[in-house]
Amino acid sequence: MALEYRVWNENGDLFGVHRKPERAEETAEKARQDCVRYCETDGEEENPGRGDFRCGVLSPHGISIQVVDGGYDVTNHH
Ligand SMILES: [Zn+2]
Repeated sequence: MALEYRVWNENGDLFGVHRKPERAEETAEKARQDCVRYCETDGEEENPGRGDFRCGVLSPHGISIQVVDGGYDVTNHH
């Protein structure tokens, strides 16, 4: 099976599904840039100016790339 690269945020919103990791990274980067317009942080630090709002807990701006092989998550099985 071909690999799929799925770009998610931490709310479970799917930004895109790609066959090539470079394309997935482009989508992820665009999603991070969109987030920056709202969160106004570098995604790595808490922003006290926005109360308890945090856009990303697990990854910068909450954007991550999941690698799927034939329906199975293989993200950490490189
Ligand atoms: Zn952000």
